[in-house]
Amino acid sequence: MATAPAPPVPLLDLQAQYRPLREELLAAVTRVCDSQRCILGDEVVALERELADYLGVGHALGVSSGTDALVAALMALGIGAGDEVITPTFSFFASAGSVVRVGARPVFVDIDPATYNLDVEAVARAITPRTKAIMPVHLYGQAVDMTALMAVAKAHGLAVIEDAAQAIGAKDGGTAVGGLGTIGCFSFYPTKNLGAFGDGGLVTTNDPALFERLRLLRDHGQHPKYHHALVGGNFRLDAIQGAVLRVKLPHLAAWTEGRRRNAARYRALFAEAGLDAIVTLPYERPGVYHIYNQFVVQVPDRDRVRAHLAALGIGTEIYYPVPFHRQACFANLGHPLDVFPHADAAAARVLALPIYAELAGSQLQQVVAAIGDAVR
Ligand SMILES: *Cc1c(COP(=O)(O)O)cnc(C)c1O
Repeated sequence: MATAPAPPVPLLDLQAQYRPLREELLAAVTRVCDSQRCILGDEVVALERELADYLGVGHALGVSSGTDALVAALMALGIGAGDEVITPTFSFFASAGSVVRVGARPVFVDIDPATYNLDVEAVARAITPRTKAIMPVHLYGQAVDMTALMAVAKAHGLAVIEDAAQAIGAKDGGTAVGGLGTIGCFSFYPTKNLGAFGDGGLVTTNDPALFERLRLLRDHGQHPKYHHALVGGNFRLDAIQGAVLRVKLPHLAAWTEGRRRNAARYRALFAEAGLDAIVTLPYERPGVYHIYNQFVVQVPDRDRVRAHLAALGIGTEIYYPVPFHRQACFANLGHPLDVFPHADAAAARVLALPIYAELAGSQLQQVVAAIGDAVR
């Protein structure tokens, strides 16, 4: 008798997170609908306070997306035409796109091949008299070496905008990211570890004057109403997103622990299967608290392995297949193509596996067995 095929393993199962919280989430959304206070307001103020506590940072401000968090941070620091911002060439598009949107020039650096995070020594070499800021990205949920990076920034008087969109609750040396640089930027896109029911984001800072500037910029720079000392934008967060995020936030630490437990299980399973010499597992830099927004491995013949997994119903993704220096829209920046070998190698080899907290042990076994079949 043929055994039934194993059920699919999606890359992310938001239904599994939603189901146990459904009643509470619907009640929170209803509360906002009944109030008809749809933008900012009490829910967002309360969320900001709760997130500042969670992150151990002085100030937190809800904004419309992670991308807008980056744009608002650049605007608050007065970065624009003629300025350069150093950022890794291997990240989600917004890290570089936001710099171009404020009229500044992104200067790309290669990554450390072990962590996939920006190479701090390459940052030091990329500094020019026009450099105004560094934008490290805590990729996949692992903190950049902020001690080393902040030393470089301080030596040159540069601001540091942390792109922490993938790293809420991640720590370096016991301190949460977003409170280590000048401004931290987070995203509540539904696939992030703390996901809203739509777009949302957060900016954080320990600098009260910068916080005040960010607050003004979020709403067209007006204060009082219709009096504009600054040109800002509409970077406001919806009350419904605030309410949803407030229901989810008390569970975030447990979800993160679930992701970390799954990462540890993957390591054990790959080792048991004798695959740890063939499959490159994520490297955890000593002293970090990795939140595993993604569990990214490298496998030989990646695209064939990915197709094999897809045929078995196992979801994977490539974060990210094209580094910034190879994007058509950045060709005019004049970066040579052959000076970022680690980013190019990662783009060709990385594969993100399912890692969400609700995954069953049997599903992790399915993933590892399928990779074993594909690579042997
Ligand atoms: C998701 C993400 C962003 C953008 O966040 P949105 O909320 O989608 O605008 C920025 N940077 C990185 C590294 C991200 O992963």
